[in-house]
Amino acid sequence: MTRLILVLGDQLSAGLSALAEADPNTDCVVMAEVAAEAEYVPHHPKKIALVLAAMRKFAEQLRRAGWRVAYSRLDDPDTGGSVDDELLRRAGETGATEVLVTTPGEWRLIGQLRELPLKVRLLPDTRFIASRRDFEDWAKGRSQLRMEWFYRDMRRKTGLLMEGNQPAGGSWNYDAENRKRPPSGHQFPAPMQFAPDSVTAEVLDLVAARFDASFGTLRPFWFATDRVQALQALDHFITEALPLFGDYQDAMLTGERFLYHSVLSVYLNLGLLEPLEVCRAAEQAWRQGHAPLNAVEGFIRQIIGWREFVRGIYFLEGAGYTASNALGHQRDLPTFYWGGETRMTCIREAVSQTRDEAYAHHIQRLMITGNFALLAGVDPQQVHEWYLAVYADAFEWVEAPNTIGMSQFADGGIVASKPYVSSGAYINRMSDHCKTCAYDVKAKTGDRACPFNLLYWSFLDRHRDRFASNPRMGNMYRTWERMDPDQRRTILSDADTLLARLDGGDIV
Ligand code: FAD
Ligand code: SF4
Repeated sequence: MTRLILVLGDQLSAGLSALAEADPNTDCVVMAEVAAEAEYVPHHPKKIALVLAAMRKFAEQLRRAGWRVAYSRLDDPDTGGSVDDELLRRAGETGATEVLVTTPGEWRLIGQLRELPLKVRLLPDTRFIASRRDFEDWAKGRSQLRMEWFYRDMRRKTGLLMEGNQPAGGSWNYDAENRKRPPSGHQFPAPMQFAPDSVTAEVLDLVAARFDASFGTLRPFWFATDRVQALQALDHFITEALPLFGDYQDAMLTGERFLYHSVLSVYLNLGLLEPLEVCRAAEQAWRQGHAPLNAVEGFIRQIIGWREFVRGIYFLEGAGYTASNALGHQRDLPTFYWGGETRMTCIREAVSQTRDEAYAHHIQRLMITGNFALLAGVDPQQVHEWYLAVYADAFEWVEAPNTIGMSQFADGGIVASKPYVSSGAYINRMSDHCKTCAYDVKAKTGDRACPFNLLYWSFLDRHRDRFASNPRMGNMYRTWERMDPDQRRTILSDADTLLARLDGGDIV
């Protein structure tokens, strides 16, 4: 009896658990480009093109490997509007009554599949180092879930950067050696770029015609769209960028969009690369003397530490996680997140590069756009939808804990032990943006005061009850309390004026 094997757009891995369970002689793979998935948030056109091109190429790869693939294109009038519609259509065509699918990385889709009038078997996604059960076991009985402890277990489990049962070099974490500021004139390697092939070019035309009103620039399009290209991008990163990955990890420079970042999240999250192979390649570079330990450890920690940790949290916390709003923030997302005018250079840089590349590196997401939204008290739902829409690597299992948890503290401290907030001083230290800004990063009050300065103190003051006793925030509150009371009053009143202008639609 034929079964349907559903392969989703971020499940483009030959070793996918649903494919491993299936029989190519009798089963039928279903892949569908459907409007519901392309449009449930206003995805960046580059992201839509990336997913569709990679799906089409993966389907072809499966056909060449002997699979029967029922593939539905977005521009085919017979294609249904949702994944469910397509499964029911294919069930009607083939007589199948059972669907095998690797568990989607989004509660919304899991719920949808469970409602289908077909037998649906959700299989574990084995493309991660920690299974959902592993993470649940690790989390059980712990009063606080901290990434650093989880990460050490992942090091032990994988043997990555281990010497016996000790961490290579004697330390688990070399962050103290990272976070430097690059010297001026420093040349950065760009990530590997690929000219669109005929499949990608056709998809680009489709996306240009159908999603031209969405925020984001479609062309030039240079992402890898298949495994062979993704492996080339990995190799290029290991050779060209990994050696200095750690040093300048947190830097932000006008006009430099990638620095030493890998841009591999895009390929990891689609399934074109596996996390362990990426980490093994990095470890080998260290063992062969090509890259230093601080860089390799920092890179591997992001993948077997943060990436696995946030996935564990997403599934542990359940479907309601994305609705969290522990700080009760209600403000609308300012229009400059969608390309509207702003006088803040740091925001303008982060948003314009997001528009052009569907990419921003971690510190831009956390300490510029995320930081501003949190300080200004923006509704975390709107922030979440923005991140989910605008980044090519955004899939809910990884985006939501980063946004709701790490960046907006909306989960009340499950992911982060304190809110990631900073005044302009941090941005000035890590970037060159303040030099060309209409605001004065040194000014604490007045018309030219950096908005991050005003909002930082107003945020701390507003949430004093929650955060003043947090041991990691004691210094911040002591500094605030040492300030002259008149100055404190002026800061708070200037911050209110700024927020009122923001709400009134003034250019801030
Ligand atoms: P690199 O700096 O080269 O890091 C290497 C790899 O480590 C990445 O490819 C990624 O797979 C992994 N990684 C690093 N940090 C994290 C992290 N915090 N969580 C999970 N994996 C991590 N990452 C996504 O993959 N998808 C998202 O939708 C996403 N949304 C985010 C939203 C916010 C508000 C914040 C603060 C972070 C978000 N991140 C997200 C995490 C991180 O910013 C990206 O993984 C990273 O910028 C991807 O670029 P890169 O591949 O060049 O990363
Ligand atoms: Fe951003 Fe403030 Fe610096 Fe301007 S002065 S770039 S708003 S941190």
